[in-house]
Amino acid sequence: MQVGGHSVEITRKRIKHLYLRVKAPGTVQVSAPKHWPMLYVRSLVKARQNWIEQQLDKLAQQPTMLAPSYEEGATIYFTGKAYQLRAVATSQRAMVSINDPHITLQLKQPTDLVARERLLDKWYRQQLKQRIEQLLDYWQPIMRVAASDFGVRKMKTRWGSCNIRSKKIWLNFDLIKKAPESLEYVVVHELTHLYERYHNQRFYRLMDEFLPDWQARKHSLNHHE
Ligand SMILES: [Zn+2]
Repeated sequence: MQVGGHSVEITRKRIKHLYLRVKAPGTVQVSAPKHWPMLYVRSLVKARQNWIEQQLDKLAQQPTMLAPSYEEGATIYFTGKAYQLRAVATSQRAMVSINDPHITLQLKQPTDLVARERLLDKWYRQQLKQRIEQLLDYWQPIMRVAASDFGVRKMKTRWGSCNIRSKKIWLNFDLIKKAPESLEYVVVHELTHLYERYHNQRFYRLMDEFLPDWQARKHSLNHHE
């Protein structure tokens, strides 16, 4: 069944009560007693629609993603697309290449999961920095602002931040996994803080001016890879 546009998975079990679980990324699971009529189960789930939506929103606002796996064939994200991880041995310098649907890590010890993580992180960081530089080159003259510097770091609670005084902006490492439009939104958002510190009317007016579709981008940043 669907609740507010989210699909709900209903499982029948030998239990006495109904259990509702909301899990990332946006899945709703319901366990219901076997003998309850479906209509009744549905009405109970419907009655909790507000709560379900609140939980999904809360999950969606958290930038932290599931701890990535570095196993062979694991799904990894890059610029909004899913790839499968593959690791192969090389005697040369370690490197990463994209051969859709794979992202291939070439390593001296391809079975070493820590080495895989380290290589992939380094590559992600380089790729993200390149893209941020291009975005800054493009947007700063248009917006008539200039950040003094930028940095990339892993952050748990936000996609970016801006130090108004030093004019340095920070961007979340996980943004490399997101669609380019989402990264662009965060860069423009942080640059807008060089005009306006707070998320007030003036801030949003400026965002509307620079990036009219910023709300859609923000939504997809929090709801999609
Ligand atoms: Zn902000």
